[in-house]
Amino acid sequence: MAESLHSPIVAKFGGTSVADFDAMNRSADIVLSNAAVRLVVLSASAGVTNLLVALAEGKDPDRRAFHLDEIRRIQYAIIDRLADSQVIREEIDRMLDNIAMLSEAAGLATSHALTDELVSHGELMSTLLFVEVLRQRQVTAQWFDIRKVMRTNDRFGHAEPDIGILKELTHSLLLPRIDEALIITQGFIGSEAKGRTTTLGRGGSDYTAALLGEALKAQRIDIWTDVPGIYTTDPRVVPEAKRIDEISFEEAAEMATFGAKILHPATLLPAVRSDIPVFVGSSKDPHAGGTLVCNKTLNPPLFRAIALRRRQTLLTLHSLNMLQARGFLAEVFNILARHYISVDLITTSEVSVALTMDTTGSTSSSVSLLTTSLLTELSSLCRVEVEENLALIALIGNKLSQACGVGKDVFGVLDPFNIRLICYGASSHNLCLLVPGQDAEQVVKTLHHNLFG
Ligand code: ADP
Ligand code: ASP
Ligand code: MG
Repeated sequence: MAESLHSPIVAKFGGTSVADFDAMNRSADIVLSNAAVRLVVLSASAGVTNLLVALAEGKDPDRRAFHLDEIRRIQYAIIDRLADSQVIREEIDRMLDNIAMLSEAAGLATSHALTDELVSHGELMSTLLFVEVLRQRQVTAQWFDIRKVMRTNDRFGHAEPDIGILKELTHSLLLPRIDEALIITQGFIGSEAKGRTTTLGRGGSDYTAALLGEALKAQRIDIWTDVPGIYTTDPRVVPEAKRIDEISFEEAAEMATFGAKILHPATLLPAVRSDIPVFVGSSKDPHAGGTLVCNKTLNPPLFRAIALRRRQTLLTLHSLNMLQARGFLAEVFNILARHYISVDLITTSEVSVALTMDTTGSTSSSVSLLTTSLLTELSSLCRVEVEENLALIALIGNKLSQACGVGKDVFGVLDPFNIRLICYGASSHNLCLLVPGQDAEQVVKTLHHNLFG
């Protein structure tokens, strides 16, 4: 691949890749090994976002000091390994003071805006520390506050960036710096019209890197994480899973949408729009290779991968009004849209409709979207049944709906399990099942063994 400064590579490092001093140095080695990498997007050090989310919940003041100490310990462990650390220690201390102050405020009253302000400190601190690691290696690196260009709406916790403004501001504010120095910036965070900090939802740093790649017309977006590529299923669930060397945008996007945590669900949108390949590799073992996600692959297989998404809720709505009536579903979807619920799977019968939703809504906080007001509104229309703790398992492939024997291959091995709901046929790329949460891993293992074993 031709590598020139005019078409840079955007490299993103996830939490484990900036977890501590050694991880940061391994990530720095990767950045410095390729002159085309001009923009680096970082997550917070592993564990820090979870601790900040816990602080933002404001519960349990006794735990507050413990969470604060834990964040301090993670960041100090990096500072303690730096040769010249006085200035950066003062900077990180200021951030820690801010976190303590905001946590106290959250103890009095929580809000989505406050949560985003708090959790943004993870990425602000990791990027400051990474710049310092690079500077001590005599590299000219510049810290850049992404909030200057990543303008979003004010849906705190799951904010949507304004792509037009991002392009304009990237060209005026970021592009000129890229030729001068290596730029280190934050994933996951942005700012709304009034200047308040927003976040793009958990795992959102991948999306930031892809958006910046698009704005800069990057030649490639590199996602460095803790596994050397995208596998046929989560290798933590099935250690025998196999690495996929090349996968199409469509297949990888389906995987991400249906829960493969390796990529944030929105990551591939900018990449597809601008046809920019995405590489996924391990910062622990960069020489192990990885997966290239690109427009088309040779001989796409019938079965490509299995994705798993936990914590799914099934709503079953019953109403005799559905019989021969028009507009019932429109009303249901109107209510769901007002509550920002996106529906994943749906099946209908004469008098009922069953639909699954991700109640976390992929937001940065852990607050459920299944609120009393949503249930009250739906109950005024129909009888509502709620089943929680289900898991969505998606079999991803190609031309699935045109193939013969898919049902036998999939369901033939699943007779020990209760399959609560099946969706097949809407997309030729997936077949989805809903199963009880406690059976999910066993279903994935069984399916994987039969289809990829
Ligand atoms: P990062 O912090 O670098 O963004 P994540 O934890 O978000 O990393 O994503 C990497 C994790 O994704 C892996 O550790 C793995 O357990 C999980 N994962 C889920 N599905 C897959 C898959 N199909 N292939 C590889 N990893 C997967
Ligand atoms: N730090 C954020 C999270 O843990 C964003 C990211 O890592 O992509 O969700
Ligand atoms: Mg991630």
